[in-house]
Amino acid sequence: SQPVQKSLSKLKAVDQSRQEFVSNVSHELKTPITSIRVLADSLMGMEEVPVELYKEFMADISDEIDRETKIINDLLTLVKSDKATTKLNISQVSINNLLEQILKRLRPIAKKQNIELVLENIREVTADVDETKLSLALSNLVENAIKYNRPSGSVTVSIHSAESAVLEVTDTGIGISPENQEKIFDPFYRVDKSRSRAMGGAGLGLALVSEIARQHNGQVKVTQSSEKGSTIALILPIAIP
Ligand code: ADP
Repeated sequence: SQPVQKSLSKLKAVDQSRQEFVSNVSHELKTPITSIRVLADSLMGMEEVPVELYKEFMADISDEIDRETKIINDLLTLVKSDKATTKLNISQVSINNLLEQILKRLRPIAKKQNIELVLENIREVTADVDETKLSLALSNLVENAIKYNRPSGSVTVSIHSAESAVLEVTDTGIGISPENQEKIFDPFYRVDKSRSRAMGGAGLGLALVSEIARQHNGQVKVTQSSEKGSTIALILPIAIP
């Protein structure tokens, strides 16, 4: 009968997306290990390696270990927050202060690419949020706005509010094509795998942001994008009902 067919095909879809998730996880976890293996094997295969070369290879190995650690941490956060039981640790937070702290922490990273970080404090906004989680979400958005920017570009974060708090992160970067504007929030999805991986990404950042927005009864979306850059908005209810 039809309802049964419908339920069965839904189950199949869930199963398939679970399998896809697991296969993506193992692929992402294997990639740094493979690099480490190649680096270690080639060092061992060489005779009379100059110390400098040793150091260079060890630095690369260390970077790959950092990458692996980040993927594991992001995955754990994502999987943990997926559970229906996750409790938010809600308190009243000044969004302006929170963003000031985040930008202060990321400024040295932005400076390396000569990117300016600007906070537009359009108004004072306080909201009932889980501070740690919101900080993680906003940091991810600003980090992306730096990573996918152009040299000497800028990132502007603005705070608006009406019934909701609207936090917009605007960059002068490479832009996001219309067909990718929803997909980038899926776990492991990357528009340009090689560019993203070179910068340490496994495509989990925006999936985390989206999960955190959902937990706050809010949403995150691309509100504007062109070859001149993009705006991603995080919209949160000011008070949790
Ligand atoms: P990661 O940055 O680790 O690859 P994310 O989940 O944070 O993963 O982002 C997914 C993809 O979305 C990125 O690989 C990138 O292609 C694209 N993206 C994210 N933010 C931006 C941005 N501000 N401008 C252009 N592309 C972006």
